[in-house]
Formats: sequence, structure tokens, C-alpha cells
Amino acid sequence: MPEKLLQIESSPPKGDWRDPKVEFRKGVFCYSALPKNLNYLGLPNAREWHPVDSDWKLPPDWKRIILEGMKDRLKKYRSFRLFMDICVRCAACADKCHFFIGSSDPKNMPVLRAELIRSVYRRYFTLTGRIFGSLAGGRELTEDVIKEWFYYFYQCTECRRCSVFCPYGIDTAEITMIGRELLNLIGCNINWVIEPDANCFRTGNHLGIQPHAFKDSMDFAADELSEITGLDIEIPINRKGAEILFVMPSADYFGEPHYYTLLGYLMVFKEIGLDYTVSAFAGEGGNFGLFTSHEMIKRLNAKVYEEAKRLRVKWILGGECGHMWRVLHQYMDTMNGPADFLEPPVSPITGTRFENARSTKMVHIAEFTADLIYHGKLKLDPSRNDRWRVTYHDSCNPARAMGLLEEPRYILKNVCNHFYEMPENTIREQTFCCGSGAGLGTDENLEMRLRGGFPRANAVKYVKEKHGVNLLACMCAIDKATLPALMDYWVGGVEVAGVHELLGNALVMTGAKERTTDLRGDDLRGEDLRGEPLVGEEAAHE
Ligand code: SF4
Ligand code: SF4
Repeated sequence: MPEKLLQIESSPPKGDWRDPKVEFRKGVFCYSALPKNLNYLGLPNAREWHPVDSDWKLPPDWKRIILEGMKDRLKKYRSFRLFMDICVRCAACADKCHFFIGSSDPKNMPVLRAELIRSVYRRYFTLTGRIFGSLAGGRELTEDVIKEWFYYFYQCTECRRCSVFCPYGIDTAEITMIGRELLNLIGCNINWVIEPDANCFRTGNHLGIQPHAFKDSMDFAADELSEITGLDIEIPINRKGAEILFVMPSADYFGEPHYYTLLGYLMVFKEIGLDYTVSAFAGEGGNFGLFTSHEMIKRLNAKVYEEAKRLRVKWILGGECGHMWRVLHQYMDTMNGPADFLEPPVSPITGTRFENARSTKMVHIAEFTADLIYHGKLKLDPSRNDRWRVTYHDSCNPARAMGLLEEPRYILKNVCNHFYEMPENTIREQTFCCGSGAGLGTDENLEMRLRGGFPRANAVKYVKEKHGVNLLACMCAIDKATLPALMDYWVGGVEVAGVHELLGNALVMTGAKERTTDLRGDDLRGEDLRGEPLVGEEAAHE
């Protein structure tokens, strides 16, 4: 019951925060990685274990491994050492984390989450800590500290909201990434991250879909679109010499509501006659390596450039995804690039040069489509979305890591007649996370997901009550997978859709038959589906 989850204890805990003991209670933690997945990836200490066990079967020299791992990373990542040294504990970040807001657990304050590892850094890597120990803020590294790290570094979605408010620019997500990297060294990882990594190695996508099933999915989507539009639609797969390689998250061709976003992309491509191909090998833009280690990011990301090279395309276009864009925008160019074999992206339809993608050679679908609309290349009938009163959830990574704030809004305002923003301290750079990113979107972790998602849901509830909002648009595969449950639990009566689903609904295609349904197959002509009565303040205004 929502009321029960809202009963949170907000008075400070009585014990010392340095006590690392945590309780692995059902619903608030993720299960450990299966040995077969670790073996597949060649990661250490594959074994059967469970976080509730008292013996985690750590390697005998686990302490040395962790401290050496820290030493290596302090040398390798200047930001890590800086973040360990410069926090002044001003607490500007303290109440900015959705997990702290939803759980009231002080160790979910970003400052304290970082302190869990910083205290070990002080004890072993600073002179004062080595001499004065706890008096200098140091903590001994014990097995209980490892369990505490596991608990709290897998209660951080690496969303980076806290970093927006830190006057020193400390990025707690990066500290979490290092924390998880260290835990990986001794085999303390979660299956919901490691299995998608392993699947990606095996089949090229997180879901483990084999190439023939990938082709079946594409054929199914093409057939369905042909039925909806009356047009002959084909989806080129692994086509050498195409101008553009299109890469999307695998959920787009295997999940719902993601699938309607896929239909939306394909309709745009058909309408403008784009010379493109998809790839069964680079059939995954998402990269769970971001939640594993820098090395894993690099290993999984490599296939995108390799496939672009093999297919001899000019540049790459990417679909609606969240963390995929953080990897592509912030890591790909230096990890696996520079992709000098590709050309700086230019829209073949409008001639726009995407200067921002000159280095990565990869353009976001929202930039591409917004540019088409801006140049009048798409005919749109926004009344086809009149049954929806839409708000937009800025997915953390496109918003905070890329600054992709205006393009999705520009599209939405052109394809919907009823668009309403959530309160400004909950959107754009300050957007609240869905609460399920970074590999935490598992069923066993549902209570913590609902707690972490509470601030986002609360803002949606506000616009639902004020404007009658009944659709939450977003541009992230994880959002599309996890926001429906969040909406059902905290809000009710709000559905979730991709931006390109709404675009596909509104797109008037050349030569297409008259549309009677939207992409979900709902009747467009029924009185009940178009022009629902206005509610709340809007009704008073119009
Ligand atoms: S806002 Fe920055 S400096 Fe202040 S406590 Fe948080 S991490 Fe430390
Ligand atoms: S990155 Fe996000 S989830 Fe992690 S501590 Fe900061 S606000 Fe919380």
C-alpha cells in the first residue's frame, strides 16, 4: 500500500554511522550474479552465494585485492582521487537523492554514500588516516564494509542528480561506479547487471535474442506497419553500403510500450526514404557495462564502431535510450574512437550538419527528428494524440549527460495538442530518476524502486491533478520498462510512451491509407478516445 511506504522514519538513527551493519530485507536489494554469467565474461570469483548469507565466500586475499584495486584506480582516475579529497560536507547534495527522499536512510544521502568508500580511502591512503585511524575519519576495511558497499552502491542509480547541486562538481555516480568496480574484483555483483552483459557478449544484445529472432522481430514490425499504413515497408538488416547505421536499445523490438517507439522510428525512415540499415550484431545500443566497470563499457561498446566499419556506413543514428547515450556521448569517442573512418553526420534530408556529433559520428534520433520537423519535412496531425494529456520525463542520461532538453519537447509540442510540464525543480537538469536505472530494475528490488521513484511519481501526480495528465512520455528503455509500475503504484491512470510513438501517431505519411487506429491499435475515431473532457485548472481556463 502506498500509505505504508510513505511511513518513513526521518529522525536521525541512534547508532554511529561508521557501523557498517546492514539488513538485507526482502524487496530492497538485488540478487547476486549467477556463476555461469561471471564465467562467460571471465570475471573473478564465480560461485553460488546470496546477499542474505553470512558467508559471502570471498577470496582469501579479498582485502589485498580491494586495496590494490583502489590504489590502481586512484592512480588511473584523477577524478576519483579528487572526489575523495575535496568534499567539504556542506550537505548541498544531501536531500537531492531520490533514494534518500524515498527511504530516509541517511546512507542514501550522496555525501554519506561517498563517505562509505572515502572513509576507507582515508584509513589506507592518507598519512593522517594511517596514523590516527578513526580520529582522522578513517575506517577499517572489513567484510561488513564490503556488504555495506554492496547494499548502498546498488541503491544508487548513477543518475547524477546530486552532482548538479554540488558546488565542487563531485559526481557521486562516478564514486558508485568505482565502488561497483571494486566489488566486481571479488565477485560481489548483481545478476541484473551481469546477465545483460553476458547476453550482450553472446548474442549482441542484453536480452539474449539470437540473430534469427532479431530478424523475426524486424519482419513482424514491418508487417504490422504495412498493415497500419497500407505501405510496403521493409527493414534493411546488415546491409553493407547503407548511408546510416541505426542502433537502438533491444527493448525497442522486444518490449512494450517500447515497441510502439520502434514503429514510430520506422515510419519516419519510410516517409523520408532514409538510406539506413539496422544490425543484428550491433542490435543493442544500451550498455550495462556502465553499471559494471569501465573495462566492460569499452568491451560492449566496441561493437557499434566495429559494425559501422564492417557495413561501411557514413555515420550512426541512435534510438531512444538512456544510459546508452551517456556511454556514447561521454565515453565512446575516447574508449573506442576516434572513428575517423566515418564522416561527420549530415542529415541527407535537410543538409543540417550535426556539429555536436562531429567527433563521435553519432546523432540522437530526437535531434534528427526535431531537425526534420523544423525544416517542414514531416506532415503532422497532432489531433491524433488528442486522447493524451502529455507530460515529459527527462531521462537522466540524455538530460544531464547530453543536455538533450529542447529537442524532445520540440517534437512533443508539434505532435500533441496537450502538453504540460512538471514542476521545474523536477525536470530538465534537475530531473528525478525513475528509481530503477543502473541495473536496479529487478522485481526482487521492487520496494526500493518504488521508494526511489516516489519523487518522480509525485511530480506526475501533481500534473495529473492539475491538468488531467494521462501520459508520461520519455526517451529511455529502462524508463519505459519501469515507469508503468511506478505510475500504477503511486499515481494511477497514467500510461507511458516513447516520444517517437507519439510522433508515429501524428505522422501523415505520403500515400498511406486513412488511419483509424493509433500505434497501440486503439480507435482514433471513437468519441471516447479523442477530446476527453478537460479537468482541473485547465477546465477553468479554457
Ligand atoms: S554537495 Fe559536494 S561538497 Fe557538499 S557534501 Fe555533497 S559532495 Fe560534498
Ligand atoms: S547519483 Fe543519483 S542515485 Fe546516486 S547518490 Fe546521486 S542522486 Fe542518488
